Amino acid sequence: MELEKIKGIGQAKIKILNRLNIFNQEDLLTYYPFRYDVIKKTDIRNLLDEDKVIIDGVIETNPNIFYFSRKKDKTSFKLNTGDKLLNIVIFNRGFLKSKLLIGTTITVIGKYDKKNNNVVASEIRFESLNDTPSVEPVYHITNGITGKQINSIIKNINIDIPDYVPEYVNDKYKLLSKKEAIKEIHFPTTIEKLKQARTKLKYEELFMFMLKINYLKNKNHKEGLKKIIDYNKVQELINNLPFELTKDQLKSVEEIYNDMIDIKQMNRLLQGDVGSGKTIVSFISLYMNYLAGYQGSLMAPTEILSIQHYNNIKKILPDLKIELLTGKTKTKEKNEILKKLKNNEIDILIGTHSLISENVIYNNLGLVITDEQHRFGVNQRANLKNKGTNPDILYMSATPIPRTYALTIYGDMEVSNIKTMPNGRKEVKTLLKKDSEIKSVLELMYKELKNNHQVYVIAPLIESNEESEMENVYELEEKMNKAFGKLYKVGILHGKMSNKEKDEVMNDFKDNKIQILVSTTVIEVGIDVKNATVITIFDSYRFGLSALHQLRGRVGRSSLESYCILISSKETERLNVLTKTTDGFKISEEDFKLRGSGDLFGIRQSGDMNFKLADLKNDYNMLLKAKEDSDYFIKNDLNKIEYKHIKNELAKSINLD
Ligand code: ADP
Ligand code: MG
Repeated sequence: MELEKIKGIGQAKIKILNRLNIFNQEDLLTYYPFRYDVIKKTDIRNLLDEDKVIIDGVIETNPNIFYFSRKKDKTSFKLNTGDKLLNIVIFNRGFLKSKLLIGTTITVIGKYDKKNNNVVASEIRFESLNDTPSVEPVYHITNGITGKQINSIIKNINIDIPDYVPEYVNDKYKLLSKKEAIKEIHFPTTIEKLKQARTKLKYEELFMFMLKINYLKNKNHKEGLKKIIDYNKVQELINNLPFELTKDQLKSVEEIYNDMIDIKQMNRLLQGDVGSGKTIVSFISLYMNYLAGYQGSLMAPTEILSIQHYNNIKKILPDLKIELLTGKTKTKEKNEILKKLKNNEIDILIGTHSLISENVIYNNLGLVITDEQHRFGVNQRANLKNKGTNPDILYMSATPIPRTYALTIYGDMEVSNIKTMPNGRKEVKTLLKKDSEIKSVLELMYKELKNNHQVYVIAPLIESNEESEMENVYELEEKMNKAFGKLYKVGILHGKMSNKEKDEVMNDFKDNKIQILVSTTVIEVGIDVKNATVITIFDSYRFGLSALHQLRGRVGRSSLESYCILISSKETERLNVLTKTTDGFKISEEDFKLRGSGDLFGIRQSGDMNFKLADLKNDYNMLLKAKEDSDYFIKNDLNKIEYKHIKNELAKSINLD
């Protein structure tokens, strides 16, 4: 239902609501408050500094207004609370002067300022407090609209939205009806009722989430291709590698081989911390798939990483026909690749998520690998799978997922673990430095540069503003040039450069034609230059621990002593975790504790887990129930006519078939 149909709402307000991603009445009803204020009289006898105060009373003195400027002013008066006279101060409300008359009953909401013995009000209401506490919703707002206005617009909505929890499940847990829950979430009658409403709506989110995961999972449980692979040839490739595979790498290769020769479709996750050597395992897998006579594809989350994979795999498998396809491949070249792919003139296709766009048609796809799979959403993964007749699937991830969570998300997936690092690796030394200690940082960088080693410098991440992110790269480039430009070459890398430019810079860095690479987080995943021994990360407090761990993984990729320097004057306690451990598993758990679920899986951006109310950590038990219930529902009820609305809702986010 359109917003226009709501009583008393005009085009101007609609525009503002659109800014909050509200485009119809359903959006409004599910625009849940993010917090509630309990409006309850404060006991003002023992106030401590900064205590929140909610108190009503009668104005005792005429307000005294001091004007700092035309728009800045300070009003003060005394409030008689019945027990006590309180000094009230409020800023920039000079316009209330005519209403703040002696004898008027008001409610003041604010904070106690002990030093000046007054209450600094943030809000004044011209009414007294209720005897019973009331619960008031607080919404995320934007310029031009208040939470109160949102709340009263919602009051004028007369539609019902469907309940996506099957009735028998509602009964089982005694959940509120959707209608009642929506009403309570916006207009809570009691705290108890509000809790019930939140439980219901959280459960609904988790149910729909698990329904989607389970649906995709069931769909994946299929017969696949029984491959015939000449293992002697695989052994030959392994023998000719420039290094000896670690025990875990060999074991992973074996597990993958066994999956491939089985009729069951492979559905395997290859887990291993940064630098543990997953890539070579994926190349060997692609080779096995090739030996069986199938095309294979490897999807990486960034252009730079796919270019790197492309260059490396060509070295390992020089006789195979391998192509690169990314979002930046020129149309003519792209059409050529697509034609060859369809005609089976390409053995292996490497690329970014453009590999899953609709017009990419394979001749006989037998293996799909996604590197750093946590960066792709469930849908993207599913799409790639749909490209072939049940090709084998291998996911690779450096983000360790605690077993319990992995179970929920990946369910029946098999897991191969690379636990040991290649021989001779030293632990990266991690140093935390304040902004003011930049000199010692430059000295350390210089020491390494003098030893003919190379350095990464990471420009701080600036949220949702690529332009200023670039500015930061340029600023840092200038600083590095000032410090080292006479002796060393400084290069830059950022997301807005073309494929060709990126490739050139990366190659120059690999060939040591550039010694200092100033970059945004485009190098965060996967990039591999063994001679780089220092990574200096500016404003590191802006990053999650797992992201920093990934960045740190850019160095220490050989037997050289390496350093990760985190520069930050803020949040040093949080960042300190990194100086104490290089165990990616511990780090991701720590990140999880500090920042919540989205970061654990690193798929914040994918939208799969954008819960409005639920939280995987706090609501884990509920999630397990939702998993069970949705499983049962798929098996027994999904296609029943009375649950058509649930199926339709599911179809909105994934392809049903
Ligand atoms: P990740 O698991 O983070 O993707 P990579 O596959 O990029 O790690 O491997 C990191 C580096 O280690 C690469 O330079 C790779 O060539 C090298 N490497 C991989 N396996 C071995 C090994 N068994 N012995 C020595 N070096 C190895
Ligand atoms: Mg990798």
